[in-house]
Amino acid sequence: MANLNPEQRAAVREVSTPLLVLAGAGSGKTRVITEKIAYLIGQCALPAKHILAVTFTNKAAREMRERVGKLLSDEVGRGLQVSTFHTLGMRMLRREAPGLGYKSNFSIFDAHDSLHLIDELLRKGAGAFTADALRNRISEWKNELVLPAQALQQADSEFDTAAALLYEQYQRHLKAYNALDFDDLILQPVLALQNDAQVREHWRNRVRHLLVDEYQDTNTAQYRLVQLLVGQTTPFTAVGDDDQSIYAWRGANPENLQRLQADFPRLQVIKLEQNYRSAGCILKCANHLIANNPHLFEKRLWSALGYGSPLKIIACRDGEHEAERVVSEILHHQFTHNSRHGDYAILYRGNHQSRPFEKVLREHSIAYHLSGGTSFFEYTEVKDLLAYLRLLVNEDDDRAFLRVVNTPRRELGAATLEKLGAYAAAHELSLLAACFESGLEAVLNRRATSRLREFAEWVVALADGARRGAAMPVIRQLIEDIDYADWLRDNAKEPAEAERRQRNVDDLLDWLERLAEPGDESRDLAAIVSRIALLDRLDRDDEGNAECVRLMTFHAAKGLEFPHAFMVGMEENLLPHRSSIEADDMSEERRLAYVGITRAQKSLTLTYASRRRRAGEWESCEPSRFLAELPQEDVEWERPGAVINPEKRKARAQAHLAQLKGLLS
Ligand code: ATP
Ligand code: MG
Repeated sequence: MANLNPEQRAAVREVSTPLLVLAGAGSGKTRVITEKIAYLIGQCALPAKHILAVTFTNKAAREMRERVGKLLSDEVGRGLQVSTFHTLGMRMLRREAPGLGYKSNFSIFDAHDSLHLIDELLRKGAGAFTADALRNRISEWKNELVLPAQALQQADSEFDTAAALLYEQYQRHLKAYNALDFDDLILQPVLALQNDAQVREHWRNRVRHLLVDEYQDTNTAQYRLVQLLVGQTTPFTAVGDDDQSIYAWRGANPENLQRLQADFPRLQVIKLEQNYRSAGCILKCANHLIANNPHLFEKRLWSALGYGSPLKIIACRDGEHEAERVVSEILHHQFTHNSRHGDYAILYRGNHQSRPFEKVLREHSIAYHLSGGTSFFEYTEVKDLLAYLRLLVNEDDDRAFLRVVNTPRRELGAATLEKLGAYAAAHELSLLAACFESGLEAVLNRRATSRLREFAEWVVALADGARRGAAMPVIRQLIEDIDYADWLRDNAKEPAEAERRQRNVDDLLDWLERLAEPGDESRDLAAIVSRIALLDRLDRDDEGNAECVRLMTFHAAKGLEFPHAFMVGMEENLLPHRSSIEADDMSEERRLAYVGITRAQKSLTLTYASRRRRAGEWESCEPSRFLAELPQEDVEWERPGAVINPEKRKARAQAHLAQLKGLLS
């Protein structure tokens, strides 16, 4: 508490009424949340287990737990819940699933799984619309708390009618698989709280103070979840910044900030105006840019840090040149400032933009850490093994069953599986349960039946083992039983591929081992499996360290800060994104640019290229309109072909030389 400003202190001490902290970037909102958790436990004697904090990503949750950990001893902090909305929903559902018609060992379908299911359903009654579009519509409804019947009733277009009919089927199939998709993890807890007074009472007893970070990015369903959890009596703290709302495309609703005031008449609002993160110049540019957006709330933001140096804008010939320039800037800057790789971040609009930077960083042997690229969890071998684990936990998970039943090959042909599927559907059984039916013998030959049965018995035996004891021995047994190493070897085009895959399997095992450590809350297989399902694309990998340059999207950078930041690809069609230009709506893209700028603490460099290759063809590019919206007296443009003064050139050459020497020594 010692170093907080008076407004922050007031926000921390306001523990009895609903509170909204509305403030710009870097003003210490997240800091208020961590300090307040410590205050609630330390000064107000509220047991940690009655405090629930919600953040936007698992990474943010982890960071907050660490920060709180520094303020409190382990002992008093025990039981504190810091999680994302989805993890919170998952935990609630472990208890409430039965009341909603699911079993508590439900599977969680990721985006691939749900798209696959929708594809399957469409195959039955082919229509004119794409699976992707239909899935998005269903997702929108779920985020708006619209159920299938209601969706059908409201549908006023052919597309909506088709989507609503599909929605109903989709839910029915999910239920048959005892599976929930990501949107259900919010929607279903809301339904449970809404429909059942006892459920409400249970959760309201558990949560005595609720804190929500990045509140501007909550959607309707999440807002409703908050509302139901706190009722009219539980105090809560929401912090947010309408200028940083960047998830409208996922249903986020910044008007939820206003709704709070209407729904909670006792709401206190505290504004924070001092930015502690960025040099004056960076902050001035950010404020100037965002002033071009219409505003719900008036906010001011100032910084007591020095003005710093003006923003640098570098024009580059093309994408490769851009990567080389940025890396050369980093090397030079590091040399002159004696800083570490970890002080630099390269930020961009889309994941595909990282490649040229990775290449050049590798060429210079600079360690880097990439967030949210092709994830470890998307490798075939990792998905295969995780599907096995899913099936062990939830025997109704037909999707997992189909993924693993022939991996490694068990000589079960498509015809056999189709007949099994038909039998299971006719008798309303899961695929695994159908394997045990004696009636199966009437539709399948003896060999096929006995192979299926053998597989099913093996699964059930392992599942029993997992339910009775520790998860790891069962997982190791499984991998041994299926001779997975041999399968990888036999199916690789070359030995190196088999080795790479085997390494992934080993990494997965190490990782599971760590998750299953005694003392960790999630030791049993069910908990491990659901935890993996909830790892977000944004935080599926670890953090990197102080010796790595960070590479990530603007979205992934939300809430973070870096001493020196580079915003690359500052061009029309990248930022602002092509689709927003087509839709003629700049405000969300501008907020994204604002989020980017406000990540920087000491220096910020923006780059754009004059041309880029798109699908093999060169395309010329225009600098982003947002560059023109910056206060021009606070930026320095470096044009293409600009003569760099000899002194600068010499310094740069020295930096490269030093780097080389470092590599050789
Ligand atoms: P964002 O909008 O980007 O999420 P935020 O409002 O959550 O930002 P924080 O991340 O909490 O801001 O704080 C920004 C930086 O300012 C952090 O490094 C934090 O430690 C520091 N800070 C916050 N409050 C103070 C304070 N009262 N005195 C000094 N430093 C502070
Ligand atoms: Mg924050």
